[in-house]
Amino acid sequence: MKPGWRIETALIHAGEPRPRIGGAVNLPIFQSSTFEMGGTEAGYHDVRYIRLNNTPNHVVVQGKLAALEGAEAALVTGSGMAAISATLLSVLAQGDHILCHRSLYGGTFDFITKDLPRFGIAFTLVDGDDPRTWSAAVRRTTRAFYVETLTNPLLEVLDLEGVVTFCRERGLVSIVDNTCATPVNYRPIERGFDLAVHSASKYLNGHTDIVAGAVVGSAVHVGEAKRKLDHLGGTLDPHACFLLHRGLKTLSLRVRHQNETALRLAAFLEKHAAVTRVNYPGLARHPRHARAAAWFAGFGGLMSFELGDDVAAARRFMERVRLPVDAPSLGGAETLMTRPATTSHSGLSAGERKEQGISDALIRISVGLEAADDLIEDFAQALT
Ligand SMILES: *Cc1c(COP(=O)(O)O)cnc(C)c1O
Repeated sequence: MKPGWRIETALIHAGEPRPRIGGAVNLPIFQSSTFEMGGTEAGYHDVRYIRLNNTPNHVVVQGKLAALEGAEAALVTGSGMAAISATLLSVLAQGDHILCHRSLYGGTFDFITKDLPRFGIAFTLVDGDDPRTWSAAVRRTTRAFYVETLTNPLLEVLDLEGVVTFCRERGLVSIVDNTCATPVNYRPIERGFDLAVHSASKYLNGHTDIVAGAVVGSAVHVGEAKRKLDHLGGTLDPHACFLLHRGLKTLSLRVRHQNETALRLAAFLEKHAAVTRVNYPGLARHPRHARAAAWFAGFGGLMSFELGDDVAAARRFMERVRLPVDAPSLGGAETLMTRPATTSHSGLSAGERKEQGISDALIRISVGLEAADDLIEDFAQALT
């Protein structure tokens, strides 16, 4: 971020073209697949073409994303999974090995454990919260370590600083999925991570109306991810760039509201007699609360809870509650609820879920932009 600018200012002004194109205060959509060469003898990667992610709409939103995380460069992509797959394929080659936390976003977990082995890339699942176990997992061929800032749905806060130190000592590339924290609450590049990846479909865009992704890091690392993406074709179209750009301007307002509302809702649930467990890093009882308080500017808008291990009680709650929408995904204006056993983690067996600590009765909430009091009143009526 430009020295002296707080994130709210960077969200509005960073990356914006000066002079403004045609005087437009808000960057218009450049719905043009190709652009004039302007008489220059350019190479392939200088050609301006939508697939190469270098139209004015790409350039501006990429400049803003880089500034938000205090990074040299950023790349927008057609989805979070496009960002993650292009990044991993740019860092890893045949014969390489990667360490990753044992519980990751489902699409990432499948890509690492099912697709990468087909390219001759091996992996080892480790506990990202237990650095004593990492050395034993390292091989001569290990290249990278992949973690997430807040895991879903249990909201674990891994030893992120331990991962950075471990990777620096061994020359590994540290990669973190920062989707759930957002740069408002945590800025991984400033904390020493080599690469941050995002599903911009979630908080960055924040309006549940596009699918997009981002890669943030050094110019060299992001450039390699871009080369891979240019060939895989996972570009973001200009209209989606425009919507992401528009959504980003309110990121800080939205996330700070969600931080406050989620903290109040989690505190309410924790005290309720029918609730047996609440997972939220803002609660003093969360096993990594002190770490989260030290590293994060806010605890985020995600939480999960249980009403005993009775799936019927969870179903009853979800039928009675009025404001939350029963839908997967997260980070939008509407509060969403989901039972991970039936959505994000339905691909695992009940036994595998249990091993990861995910009960079939667990309910995951993504707090939206409603008033905290209305949400708390609604949850209270649904729990009686
Ligand atoms: C949704 C999500 C992804 C995948 O992003 P898409 O935009 O759906 O491709 C990756 N990581 C996390 C943490 C997510 O929540």
